[in-house]
Formats: sequence, C-alpha cells, structure tokens
Amino acid sequence: MRIESIKSHLKGQTIMSRKSTFSAAFASALAPFDAYSREAVAQGIRDLGQDPEGDLSCVYCGTEAATWDHVFSRVVNGEFSGHGHRVRNLVPCCRSCNERKGKRQWRSWLDIVAPGDAVERASKIEHFLSHAAASPMTAEAMDAAAPAEYERYREIRSQVFALMAEADALAVTIRGKLVAAASDPVTQQQKT
Ligand SMILES: [Zn+2]
Repeated sequence: MRIESIKSHLKGQTIMSRKSTFSAAFASALAPFDAYSREAVAQGIRDLGQDPEGDLSCVYCGTEAATWDHVFSRVVNGEFSGHGHRVRNLVPCCRSCNERKGKRQWRSWLDIVAPGDAVERASKIEHFLSHAAASPMTAEAMDAAAPAEYERYREIRSQVFALMAEADALAVTIRGKLVAAASDPVTQQQKT
C-alpha cells in the first residue's frame, strides 16, 4: 500500500452518496417472492439439466455453485424491475460469477464467462425461464391494484431522499460552524 491511498478517506462523506443503497431497499421491499417448495425448486433444477439430488453447478461457468443468482435483477437504474425472489428467477451460481456478473444481462455474462458453451447453456436457462408461472410485476399493475398506496410509497421515497439531501447540507453547515467557533477569539476567550 502507498501513502497516497489514504486520500480516499480524507474527504467529506455524504448521506446522498448512499442513495443507490436506499433506492435498492425501496425496490427490494416491493419484490415478490415464492414460498419454498422443494419439488418446485427440484423441477427448476431438472429444467436446467442438473440433478436436484446432487451438488449444483454454476449455470454460467459450470464450476461448483455456492449461491443463488437472480437471473433478472430486482433493481434496474434505481427502480424496481418487477422481478423478485421467485424460484424461476433464482439459479445456482458460483461466487465469482455472482460477484462479477454485476448489472449485465445473463446472456452477455454467458458470452464473457463461457464463450464456448454459451449457446448450450443459454438454451437450458431459456427452458428454465419458459416455465415461470408469474410475469414480472409492472409499475402499471401496481398502480392499477393499489393506486393510493403505490403513489404514497413513491412519495415517501422522494421525501426520504429530500430529507437525506437536507441532512447533508446541515452536516456541511455544522462542520463549518465548528471550524468557525474554534478559530473565533471570543469563543476561545469564553473557554479560558
Ligand atoms: Zn460461475
């Protein structure tokens, strides 16, 4: 490590710099989820061409799976994508693919991580996805089913962001006033 790397710590932090974390939380809270059914999961695994009774492998690169990847991410550009924690949206995945796939579409990730097998693996994933019982939850559907609640939900999100921005401005003022007070001769005199 070089001493210059300390620079990333020597600067003001803001609450708004975490906005994407809060956006993701608001999106995730809307995301639907399936109840656990071993048979439903096992059928999905068979559709992926794997043995549900054995050790599962990563649908992207073929190495041993260590986690479950959301094929379609729940949050896109800070908004709820309509996809949730559904059995037909969760596939066995290795740690490396899970961390590196990021915001990419599953097909582009396949092309990167397994170019030779991408076509064969893509057809398995397509087969798996074609049996999804539920379609993605759209903003229109939420607006139609629960208009008042959905509107208030978005309003609260905006208010939270506005409050975060206000708190950021207050933090700057508080720091500024502390510095001013520390260098003000009157304040210094009062202390002694
Ligand atoms: Zn992998």
